[in-house]
Amino acid sequence: MIRHNDRVAIAVSGGKDSLSLLYIIKKIFDRWGRSDLIAITIDEGIKGYREESLQIVKDFCSDLKVENKILTYKDLFGMEMDQAMIMRPSKKMTSCSICGTFRRRAIDIAAESVGANVVATAHNLDDQLQTFIINIFAGDSERIGWIYPDPIRYGTNNFKKVKPFIEIYEREIVFYALQKKIPFQSEECPYMHESIRTDIREFISKMEKNHAGIKYNAYNSMMKISEKLKTLPSIYKYTKCSVCQKDCLGDICSVCRTVQILNNNNNN
Ligand code: SF4
Repeated sequence: MIRHNDRVAIAVSGGKDSLSLLYIIKKIFDRWGRSDLIAITIDEGIKGYREESLQIVKDFCSDLKVENKILTYKDLFGMEMDQAMIMRPSKKMTSCSICGTFRRRAIDIAAESVGANVVATAHNLDDQLQTFIINIFAGDSERIGWIYPDPIRYGTNNFKKVKPFIEIYEREIVFYALQKKIPFQSEECPYMHESIRTDIREFISKMEKNHAGIKYNAYNSMMKISEKLKTLPSIYKYTKCSVCQKDCLGDICSVCRTVQILNNNNNN
């Protein structure tokens, strides 16, 4: 996933997964005598939630002697998440769909701004399984192909995106973080229960409790499906967004479309 001379940006939110990933990669880098590692953090602008994690990330990076770059939705998209929630036309536009669309772009911009060529995210096995089922429910087969973690180079940014924790259960990462005394965020996002992800997480956890190992079996099936879909010629034609010029499907990318919908609804 990571080669010598790579400049690696790790997306660090302040949760147990991303701080554990930063801790482990930093240890590996120290062993190699390398320092091309930057923690990138996105401040969504969620009052009462993000402040705690920003401080945790800042202190943890300072202890590890890793540079921390913070970008905000406010600066990048002209609005905080709290504002977006008021500006949205209806609850059908869910908090996590807005936030996820902005976050993917924000991480790309942050990684580009620090000159990274590898972006590491701390998605674990549970996260990916939930995403897989969400994509099935949304009828979004193209995105299932994106899950397969071969080094992928896409878009104009030409980053390699890696997921070192993809085969690790979430509870094992919690155990690791506790055992290593890694301080992580305790506060839950106030908008998280709007997402279908919460229901799917509970469903998968119940299945695993009653049928131990079922998550890993499902993970293996997901990877086979994802790999096949990834190697199929895409049925979608990529063009340039007429607003920001990033790669997109259609005239306008999902980020610019989301910003437009929110602003238009706010002005009406
Ligand atoms: Fe954003 Fe949803 Fe995560 Fe909250 S739970 S930070 S709204 S993606």
